[in-house]
Amino acid sequence: MTEKAIREFTPFEMATLQFDQAARTLHLTENQIAMIKEPRRVTEVNLPVRMDDGSIRVFKGYRVQHSIVRGPAKGGIRFHQNVTVDEVKALAFWMTYKCAVVGVPFGGGKGGVVVDPRELSTNELERLARRYFADLCDLFGPDKDVPAPDVNTNPQIMAWMLDTYSMHRKRFLPAVITGKPLEIYGSEGRKKATSRGLAICVREMAKHIGIDLSKATVAIQGFGNVGSFAGEILEKMGARIVAISDVDGGFYSKEGMSVKEAIEYTHKTLTKTLKGFEKTGKVKRYDDPMKLLEEDVDILIPAALEKQITEENADRVKAKAIAEGANGPTTPEADAILYNKGVHIIPDILCNAGGVTVSYLEWVQNRMGYYWTEERVNEDLEKVMVNAFNAVLATAKEYKVKMRTAAFIVGIQRVTQAAETRGLYA
Ligand code: NAD
Repeated sequence: MTEKAIREFTPFEMATLQFDQAARTLHLTENQIAMIKEPRRVTEVNLPVRMDDGSIRVFKGYRVQHSIVRGPAKGGIRFHQNVTVDEVKALAFWMTYKCAVVGVPFGGGKGGVVVDPRELSTNELERLARRYFADLCDLFGPDKDVPAPDVNTNPQIMAWMLDTYSMHRKRFLPAVITGKPLEIYGSEGRKKATSRGLAICVREMAKHIGIDLSKATVAIQGFGNVGSFAGEILEKMGARIVAISDVDGGFYSKEGMSVKEAIEYTHKTLTKTLKGFEKTGKVKRYDDPMKLLEEDVDILIPAALEKQITEENADRVKAKAIAEGANGPTTPEADAILYNKGVHIIPDILCNAGGVTVSYLEWVQNRMGYYWTEERVNEDLEKVMVNAFNAVLATAKEYKVKMRTAAFIVGIQRVTQAAETRGLYA
């Protein structure tokens, strides 16, 4: 990530630039833009938490509700030391259009806490998660705002948050949060849903541009929830995973590696990362993990954080297709460079929408009190992702625009139609 790129566009500026491109193509009026572009509500809290040593630390937290036009706000909660209100606004914005692209009945929201969770004990993490949810309790609800996991949050944290909500409301309302453990009514298939949706998009894109997946090579940046399972599923589809990385380094093997072994390796390390993976003798370590993005592969999957492919490195990207597992991994300058080079990008608001799709199925099951098998959930996910991919591809052809702009066109049309149909209250 170059410093130059960081100074040029903040994530929210990036998001609104993407919006503006699609809005221009659609000739949206000023009134239409006014109704759907800016976040509806931005909340900031300071969360005092007692540390194990008795001291009190105050953490800054945010919840942004970008839109509730098509349904309750929906979007994950991120725990990361670099969280800013601008980033949370961008992530909430992308959720609005992501939900619209896949046609799930939600608006967009996102939450974040400025914390490096690696510095906290499990008990401290639990107290922080509970305090966040308690302080923002009135914002949340199955018909108001439904959070889920994001970077550095997981099903256990969702469980603590649900429990906190239930204690405040004096009722058990599992539909207030998704991505929960199965024991408390999470959905079968949710854990791998983002990755499965991504793999379905990769499969469809491979068909479209004539790549044989059984001979394809793949590099994955970020080996967390999204990246690791994306590797596992693509490997099952026949692809060869030649490079992976996480916060502790990047690793490659020209012959391809076993993703299963890599996942098992992370389970054995103290930090649950790939640290020291080269010592197994099965992979080599990059001196500079960012080189993974420039690997000569068919498919590149950025699945870590924003702004990884920038104007500084875009020209050296050799992949034929990029599947954006992360939100906002490509800066607008890089996007233009890659488009001109003929690289096929499956944009984040389509590519990683499998997670929110199965979150929707989890919410539906919670509200029915009736639970589906993993096969049933995966069948629905398959249909939703294939339909969304085809809608975006058809729109790209119709308007002669890149897939990213096409995805925004599909999303913006749906949000605008809903906003205009509802009209303005008071
Ligand atoms: P995660 O915390 O499980 O994993 C993040 C991974 O990125 C970790 O392996 C971490 O070590 C790695 N990482 C962090 N900084 C890095 C760096 N500089 N270089 C290489 N790797 C780095 O998070 P996740 O849930 O897998 O989310 C990853 C991305 O996908 C985020 O952008 C998130 O918003 C997006 N996303 C997640 C979901 C979901 O369902 N979890 C859904 C849609 C989008």
